Amino acid sequence: MNRNKREKEYYSIDVGDSTFTVLKRYQNLRPIGSGAQGIVCSAYDHVLERNVAIKKLSRPFQNQTHAKRAYRELVLMKCVNHKNIIGLLHVFTPQKTLEEFQDMYLVMELMDANLCQVIQMELDHERLSYLLYQTLCGIKHLHAAGIIHRDLKPSNIVVKSDCTLKILDFGLARTAATGLLMTPYVVTRYYRAPEVILGMGYQANVDVWSVGCIMAEMVRGSVLFPGTDHIDQWNKVIEQLGTPSQEFMLKLNQSVRTYVENRPRYAGYSFEKLFPDVLFPADSDHNKLKASQARDLLSKMLVIDASKRISVDEALQHPYINVWFDPAEVEAPPPAISDKQLDEREHTVDEWKELIYQEVMDWEERTKNGVVRGQPASLGAAVSNDSHESSSNAVSSMSTDTDSSQETSAGPLRCCR
Ligand code: AMP
Repeated sequence: MNRNKREKEYYSIDVGDSTFTVLKRYQNLRPIGSGAQGIVCSAYDHVLERNVAIKKLSRPFQNQTHAKRAYRELVLMKCVNHKNIIGLLHVFTPQKTLEEFQDMYLVMELMDANLCQVIQMELDHERLSYLLYQTLCGIKHLHAAGIIHRDLKPSNIVVKSDCTLKILDFGLARTAATGLLMTPYVVTRYYRAPEVILGMGYQANVDVWSVGCIMAEMVRGSVLFPGTDHIDQWNKVIEQLGTPSQEFMLKLNQSVRTYVENRPRYAGYSFEKLFPDVLFPADSDHNKLKASQARDLLSKMLVIDASKRISVDEALQHPYINVWFDPAEVEAPPPAISDKQLDEREHTVDEWKELIYQEVMDWEERTKNGVVRGQPASLGAAVSNDSHESSSNAVSSMSTDTDSSQETSAGPLRCCR
């Protein structure tokens, strides 16, 4: 495309401290969030005629951590297509050449709020169990592709006012098939599983612990294990759940075991004490049953020893969750990840720049004129997501307000109260 024509397609607008230079098809930009990678805006897409979210990644190739994450996200989003994982609609850069390449913009489906906002609300059992069911469906789909998230937290899970839910990113995803030793630096502290805190290496149900912490937070309205640092995180876990058994201690490497065994010993509390009836809606027999089911699920997810913790499949079959079970959602065919070496890649800044730029060009080509070309599966589904979802799920009837098009946070508050 010639340079002048390309320049005419873009305009710049200040959003907070940042300047977004976006295609003119995207209008009404408003900041809705920010994360480790950059600022996220809502916008109206005049080509697809729908609201979207646009995330700006500035110099995504600037160091190994940023580059690996940006590249992984691009590659995985191309492969993964599931209603509980955010779909990528478009990717672009306003710069014209590889040499000039600086910023990358990811255009995604727009959701209404992240789970941090939902946690503050009093959720009934239907909504709570449906949100958990969808989280587990999304996680199961990632696991099926060998992706263990390891960084699940309320801020990277987003919802709509009709209670539909999507996981926003792939965390520090690593294809489990590689079997390489997994580094213990991941997951935001509060949701970090014991095996991660203690550097034991982990398996897929590391993500179940995070779901347990998120569920507990939704029930309590406050963080379950609010550790102030890495060590305090472990203290918070054992203070509430109790010092783990000798059998668990034997799985630790010697230096960690010495440390853990020398901590004060705690008996911990029963789950009835940790999550008393008063935290749950309890005015009907139905709700009492549900509260005890919810507590039972918590007691099976929040197990320090991963070998005794429930798996994602078992959680999906739990009575509190399986009311929503739909094989099409739970057992969707696993995505095939094209780049098996994704997590092992090491490159110089210049090499990353070129790799990421090529991915952006590939996306631009596939989505020319707003129409998806090439492999349409993932984008096709993402583009038609709205209609697909509203017809397919029982919970659309739970919504009191399905027209959330301009909302960025108020929707779920209305819906879920
Ligand atoms: P991230 O940079 O992906 O960690 O996102 C930071 C924050 O932006 C999230 O916690 C959400 O509040 C918001 N956000 C990101 N993507 C979306 C989206 N597609 N729809 C709605 N909000 C989003």
